[in-house]
Amino acid sequence: MPAQSAVVTDNAVMRKAPMISLVVPCFNEEASVKLLYEEVLNVMEKNEGVTDFEFVFIDDGSHDSTLNELRKYAALDSRVRYLSFSRNFGKEAALFAGLSEAAGDFVVTMDADLQDPPSLIPEMLRAVRGGEYDCAATRRVTRKGEPLIRSFFARCFYYLMAKVANIEVVDGARDFRLMSRVYVDAILSLEERNRFSKGIFPWVGFKTKWFEYENRRRLAGTTKWSFWKLIIYALNGIVAFSSKPLAIASVMGILIFLASLILIAAIVFRKITGHSVNVDGWASTTCIILFTSGIQLFSVGVLGQYLAKAYTEVKRRPHYIIRESSGKTRATERDSSLGG
Ligand code: UDP
Ligand code: MG
Repeated sequence: MPAQSAVVTDNAVMRKAPMISLVVPCFNEEASVKLLYEEVLNVMEKNEGVTDFEFVFIDDGSHDSTLNELRKYAALDSRVRYLSFSRNFGKEAALFAGLSEAAGDFVVTMDADLQDPPSLIPEMLRAVRGGEYDCAATRRVTRKGEPLIRSFFARCFYYLMAKVANIEVVDGARDFRLMSRVYVDAILSLEERNRFSKGIFPWVGFKTKWFEYENRRRLAGTTKWSFWKLIIYALNGIVAFSSKPLAIASVMGILIFLASLILIAAIVFRKITGHSVNVDGWASTTCIILFTSGIQLFSVGVLGQYLAKAYTEVKRRPHYIIRESSGKTRATERDSSLGG
């Protein structure tokens, strides 16, 4: 049944001018909301293929006056809708909420800070509307303006993801995307709590056209990503998409066990052949103890990571909690139409 309704939606999309939803997660973006709203409006109103569009802003528990800005624009323009979370749930939760809420035939996700150029949207729309592609994605080709150490760790992460996880995470891929309805529904069908979009996008498959652009600096505000947040995000990504770290821990255990067998055999041989088996000093013993206990702790840590993720999943807590919204949310509408 869902496949059938997707076909009907697609035919409808081909007939009339499509409705586009712009999903924008915002965390402390009071200075960016106005700039983004104006620049997007400028692009959308100039583009003849677009007659109908909406903004879906997600206020991810901002501490500044982002919510006031959103209230203001929602009152001024009926195409602006917003959800405001009860606290900061993170960008992944905000994106999930935005995609669930978006009503468009096509959905664009973009950052509030205008690092993603809205002027690319018409070209992205043409690519997906043609029907050959289901998603138009963007990647930045330079890491200009980024600290060297951050670029280095980012490259290590992409290399590790390619080696360890079975999905290709594209280097420099941004969350600035234009997706067809079928693609969005596929993303929403993955209900996991540990969301890692950079992996979910390639995991669902479909055909993606890539657009490239030069990295731009934020127009206002500051990045929400500290170096440690990025490291934790990368580790979460690896745990979410691969169980190879568990296999690596097991292989290390087997290798150390084999090495110990060789050492035992060597000692027995020396004893039988009348050689001394006394070892000089305590340094070698200490090194062996530190080495093996280090590997043991590492393995327990790896196991703990998977256990913690499984624990979060089985609790099935909501991805986010809405404190305020500009109107009825699609979820409430769906519930009331079911008599819930
Ligand atoms: N963001 C969010 N919740 C968070 C952190 C960030 O909704 O906890 C939003 C933020 O407002 C912005 C986007 O996610 O619109 C990307 O964040 P940022 O620009 O800080 O990341 P960067 O572009 O530096 O990777
Ligand atoms: Mg940004």
